[in-house]
Amino acid sequence: MTEKVVSWGLIGASTIAREWMVGSIRKHPLGRVKAIVSSDLSRAQAFSDQMGIPDAYDSLVPMLSDREIDAVYISTKNDQHLSQALAAIEAGKHVLCEKPLALEPKEAQSIVEAAKRKGVVLATNHHLRNMESHLAIKRLLREGAIGKVNSIRIFHAGSLPQSLKTWRLFEKSAGAGVIYDITVHNGDLLRFYLETNPTRITALATASGEGANGIEDSVMSVWEFPGDILVQCHDSFVVGYGPRGVEIHGSAGSILGIDVMSQAPGGSVVLRTSDGERDIPLELRVTYDRGVSDFIAAVQGKGSPSSTGEDGVWSVKLAKAVAQSAATGQTVLIEQV
Ligand code: NDP
Repeated sequence: MTEKVVSWGLIGASTIAREWMVGSIRKHPLGRVKAIVSSDLSRAQAFSDQMGIPDAYDSLVPMLSDREIDAVYISTKNDQHLSQALAAIEAGKHVLCEKPLALEPKEAQSIVEAAKRKGVVLATNHHLRNMESHLAIKRLLREGAIGKVNSIRIFHAGSLPQSLKTWRLFEKSAGAGVIYDITVHNGDLLRFYLETNPTRITALATASGEGANGIEDSVMSVWEFPGDILVQCHDSFVVGYGPRGVEIHGSAGSILGIDVMSQAPGGSVVLRTSDGERDIPLELRVTYDRGVSDFIAAVQGKGSPSSTGEDGVWSVKLAKAVAQSAATGQTVLIEQV
């Protein structure tokens, strides 16, 4: 198959598009950014001027009817992903969508089914599985470097920059709160590490007042995976100075991922066994480059995206389970289908 340029439309004049995704798309030899859509025309125009993007719109219609656009990247508020992804798929565009794909697993599943019917590529932008640190951890796990895994602890607690203290904290209907923002990534990462799905989850959440209307800004959860593996996650918007990492413990050692739960490449991975402590060398690259590159390859008919639509459905399902457990005080059993 001849390799063809993939021309992108951006849906959402967002921070992540500006800070990371436009750069990752442009770095790819076949990636071009042709258009931006915002709900506000002046924001679309300001974004296109700043980033040098040819077309700016305040409606999806002209972008989706532009036959030169092959793919869209959706990074609007969480509640908008569903309708925008369905509209883009209906127009025959390939879709790279931000997490969470939707606010309900059934809705996320409907996006997967629509993409299958239309024969377009659908991917979820779960970045952690594309980071060198997490890829190195996965290699160690596959090699059996720590024997049988028995427990994992994830520290995914940070603080929001002032510029992002908006809908995430104040608009319940937009899919606000730390669970659909941060915990959703843990679900994907754990499934990536363990290649299986959790069986039950128990959680507690608090709304310390960082956000409005009781929107949760911290959550702690315990997950069980097949093989008697226990996982503990701490996700927060109100921890200013903690390290963001992961510990994986097994019968023959531990893996420590230090400062590896972020957007920027960095951090370190250490293997501790009876032989002592070993730093794992990492070839750091921009976190989002690999996801874009795998997506473009999938559009060219080569392989599948690193995080698929189905992966996105699972992470919505797991985030919902955490939210349900926190709301009810009950352990939530995870349906395996
Ligand atoms: P932003 O708050 O920066 O942008 C989200 C939306 O908010 C934009 O689409 C825009 O709407 C609107 N908006 C932006 N600036 C303004 C403003 N000044 N006034 C009013 N509205 C504004 O969100 P993020 O970039 O942080 O997140 C976007 C999506 O990406 C979310 O779904 C989030 O979960 C996801 N995300 C994923 C990450 C990952 O690593 N995979 C990391 C960070 C975020 P409009 O487009 O209509 O102009």
